[in-house]
Amino acid sequence: MPGQFLSRKVLDLSPSATIAMNAKAKKLRAQGKDVISLSVGEPDFRTPRHICEAAMRAVEDGQHFYTPSAGTPELRQAVADTLSRDTGASYSPDMVVVSPGAKYSIYLTLLALLDPGDEVLIPAPYWVSYPEIVRLCGGVPVLVATDGAVHPLSPAAVAKAITPRSKLLILNSPSNPSGQVVPPEDIGRLGALIEERGIWCLSDEVYNRLSYGREPPRSIAGVSPYCHAHTVVVNGCSKTYAMTGWRLGWLGARRELAAAVDSLQSQTTSNPSAITQAAALAALQGPQDCVEEMRREFQIRRDLIHRLVNALPGFSSACPEGAFYVFPDISQLLGREIGGRLVNTPSDFCEIALERALVAMVSGEPFGTDRHVRISFAVRQETLSEACRRLGELLATGRVAGLD
Ligand code: PMP
Ligand code: GLU
Repeated sequence: MPGQFLSRKVLDLSPSATIAMNAKAKKLRAQGKDVISLSVGEPDFRTPRHICEAAMRAVEDGQHFYTPSAGTPELRQAVADTLSRDTGASYSPDMVVVSPGAKYSIYLTLLALLDPGDEVLIPAPYWVSYPEIVRLCGGVPVLVATDGAVHPLSPAAVAKAITPRSKLLILNSPSNPSGQVVPPEDIGRLGALIEERGIWCLSDEVYNRLSYGREPPRSIAGVSPYCHAHTVVVNGCSKTYAMTGWRLGWLGARRELAAAVDSLQSQTTSNPSAITQAAALAALQGPQDCVEEMRREFQIRRDLIHRLVNALPGFSSACPEGAFYVFPDISQLLGREIGGRLVNTPSDFCEIALERALVAMVSGEPFGTDRHVRISFAVRQETLSEACRRLGELLATGRVAGLD
């Protein structure tokens, strides 16, 4: 049988759907097609100048050696300060491990916490990588249904899903893909719930600086001493500082867990790039107005795309409160013919949109829903308008003039 030499773990693994769709769009573009990619979630801004200059100085100063596996002392201190400010709980450098990307921080957290059969509660819709990483680490993903993309999750739904095997709850607020933010009082309720039931929380806060409400999102780590001791907070530079390709993320956790994660990292990837760590230090310690400028532009795009998407027939979307995704429900389109093809699933619709309108989106299925599509609005306003114009024409006529 082909692939029989591969491990069970790998045979059971699905590749990242967001990365796959982005690769598909890039391939079509390389063939000369005028593709608009609203697929992958990454800021389109340049990394701010002072961050790039810090990296260049690090190269020139010869900072090209291995660093301590958990990161340089200066960067761990800067991350600890940032975590303390963001969460309202107190972090010291020995509670921090810096890794090549928040995704790797999540992987190491689950590797360090899960034994075979441990259940991990994942509110759906969820970021595509959570269930796959949980399985890779021997855990069992338990999906907690929420009412689609409108409310991120209810503490009552989480309570119902808890069993004696539950080890950990994954929280992601603001959420990828729905853009919804868990209200502060529900974070308080979830904190009380994990304490009462004795479970852990992985709080993925990579979008915490990209929120559009009056108050910043609340972190569960700051709810109580129990939550502080049993929450792993994950964050990084990718979204906040437009640094996806630099690969820099981190986690904050109690000391014994941070030390275990450090051991795992020392035996797997040693340390994140020394040059990237110098850049991240400048990002955290330098001026923060670049973050606010990008956030403001995202908010303008959010308003625009929310309006344009809801004007498309068959699309209905809540207003994202954070991150840079809209997640419209397109169930009204299912069962209909578009351009002579039957649309049974969101992924059918995404295929037709890519083929006929050259607009790349990610279908809801890998996020745990068969009614939605995810649209990243981390592109220019003109691009969003043109994408929605094409989708409107596709829905009205089955084709987009000038593209076929
Ligand atoms: N968590 C969420 C919710 C994300 O959307 C992403 C996407 N990049 C990550 C974690 C990982 O970020 P990175 O590895 O680039 O730091
Ligand atoms: N997190 C982004 C996304 O959801 C980047 C790609 C990935 O790592 O999944 O599109």
